[in-house]
Amino acid sequence: KKIVIALDGHSSCGKSTTAKQVAAELGYAYIDTGAMYRAVTLYFLDHHVALTNPKDVSDALKNIDITFHYNPKTQRNETYLNGLNVEDEIRKMYISNQVSEVSVVPAVRHAMVAQQQKMGKRRGVVMDGRDIGTAVFPDAEVKIFMTADVDTRARRRQQELLVKKQLVNLNEIKENLQKRDLIDSTRAESPLRRADDAHLLDTSHMTIDEQVEFVMNKVAS
Ligand code: C5P
Repeated sequence: KKIVIALDGHSSCGKSTTAKQVAAELGYAYIDTGAMYRAVTLYFLDHHVALTNPKDVSDALKNIDITFHYNPKTQRNETYLNGLNVEDEIRKMYISNQVSEVSVVPAVRHAMVAQQQKMGKRRGVVMDGRDIGTAVFPDAEVKIFMTADVDTRARRRQQELLVKKQLVNLNEIKENLQKRDLIDSTRAESPLRRADDAHLLDTSHMTIDEQVEFVMNKVAS
C-alpha cells in the first residue's frame, strides 16, 4: 500500500537530501514544496507584485505554473516556472531572503497547498516542507519533524552554496535561517510546528544514511 511521508522542519536540516533518498529507496515521487514557494517568490520579484495588494497577488498566482521535471544529467528533479528551468535561480540568497515573507500570504499558501494535495492524491510520495503533516496531508501515514542546531545547519548550507560556486558569509546564512524559522513558525496561516503525531528527528549529530534509516524504520513500523 502506498503512503504519504511528510518531512517537515526547520530550514537546512537535511530534509530534502533525506527525502530524496527515501523516495528513491521506495520508488516514490519526491516533492520539494519549498521549491514551489521559492518559484512564486522569483515570479513576484520579477513582476514587482505588491504583497499587500490582494488583486495583484491573485492575478499573479493565476499566471504561475510550477512543474518538476527529471534531468538525467544532474539526476535530480528540477523546478520549472512557466516552462523555464529555475532550479539554480531559486536557490540563490536573494530568494532565500524574501521567500518567507511571500509564504506568509494566505492566497499564496492556498494555491500551493491545493497543488500539493493534487500532486500527492495518489499517495506514494515523500513531501518535504513546513506544513505537510499539519495542513497539506494531516492524514499522512508517516510524519517526521526534523531539526538541528543552527550552527550545524548554517555550516551545511554554506557547503551546499559553495558547491554551486556561491560564496556566502556564515553569519549571513545563520541570520537568514533564524529569520526564516521565526517568520515560518509565527505566521498566522499553518505555521511551522511539529504535528502531535510527528516523530522528532534531530540531525545535529547524524549522517545522511542514519537520517534515511530513521525514516525507513518509521515507514516499516
Ligand atoms: O525548504 P526551503 O528552505 O527551500 O523553503 C523555503 C521557504 O519556503 C521556507 O523558509 C518557508 O518560508 C517556505 N515554505 C513554506 N511551506 C512549505 C515549504 C516552504 O512556507 N511547505
